Amino acid sequence: MSQQQGIFNHLIEQLMALPGVGRKSAQRLAFFILKMESHAAKKIGQAIIDVKDRLAFCKQCNNITEHEICDICASPKRETHKILVIEEPSTLHVIERTGEYKGLYHILLGALAPLPGSKTAAPSIQNLVDRLKKGGVTEVIIATNPTIEGEATAIYLTRLIQPLGVTVSRIAFGIPVGIDLEYADEVSLVKSLQGRREIEKLS
Ligand SMILES: [Zn+2]
Repeated sequence: MSQQQGIFNHLIEQLMALPGVGRKSAQRLAFFILKMESHAAKKIGQAIIDVKDRLAFCKQCNNITEHEICDICASPKRETHKILVIEEPSTLHVIERTGEYKGLYHILLGALAPLPGSKTAAPSIQNLVDRLKKGGVTEVIIATNPTIEGEATAIYLTRLIQPLGVTVSRIAFGIPVGIDLEYADEVSLVKSLQGRREIEKLS
């Protein structure tokens, strides 16, 4: 293998580390990058470096932040007795845009796989339980996606949280089943938050 071929293959291997990118897609992307204007390609590289150097997940809620604790967790204006549980940081931004919700968040960074062998990211559930055990939270609103994984996660969380003496509610679904919350429009989201129902005690 020539040195040039080695450099090119190295890029392909690195791109294959991304989710959903197989060898064929990685090759296509690598050729695209090779053909790009130099400054445009370098911008992509720099954007990746900036994200890794400057951003991290909030130590408390997993929101994306430049600090150890995100602006929402650090704000004295938020209602700290309420935690809204969502799967991805992108959903937080949709909900924040509505301006309707004043409590705190907990972002799972994924959902539970309901079937053995199905692939999902390990959600940050233990951190949530640790937060609740510290006290002060009276309601957890579960707003995982209305998908099989989201529902499985909601049931699992309810079983875990109710014994801690915290009220668990699930947002109402005017939102179409199967759709990710980040794609729901703001009006539907506000309605589903307002129409949330307490989940009856699971035996
Ligand atoms: Zn936070």
